[in-house]
Amino acid sequence: MNNVRHCVACGSLFRPLPHVPNQRYCSASNCQRERRRRWQQQHMRADADYRENQRRAQASWRARNPDYWRQYRATHPAYRERNSALQRKRNARLRSGVVANMNASHIAPPLASGFYVLRRASEIQIAKMNACIVHITVLSPPGGPSAPDCKEMM
Ligand SMILES: [Zn+2]
Repeated sequence: MNNVRHCVACGSLFRPLPHVPNQRYCSASNCQRERRRRWQQQHMRADADYRENQRRAQASWRARNPDYWRQYRATHPAYRERNSALQRKRNARLRSGVVANMNASHIAPPLASGFYVLRRASEIQIAKMNACIVHITVLSPPGGPSAPDCKEMM
């Protein structure tokens, strides 16, 4: 009877269960709920402390080993190769973006509509040569859906 004690939650006297000699909460459901709540809280705090310790340990390790990643890349060619392949892919995507912009229809066509002298390429060096006058009408920008072939215009 001398092991009767006060519940740390409600303060009332209770006798600890025989198999729980260190019982600090009486068996009232509210006090048991309080016990679980405090236990959980303590655990979460311990967990947060643990995570904070991990974070600090990692940060201080990085501070003590600033060359780690540089050395890792130097000694792990596969890792490095994978990274530079990814970089090449990013660069290619960037370039294709530029090409796509160049295809935009606001770019001037290579030839303006108008009259042009048509000559055979083999006669260019000859002083007097036969030439004919052609008229070229640019109908749509190059790469456009209905860009006409030169042959079609003859
Ligand atoms: Zn109690």
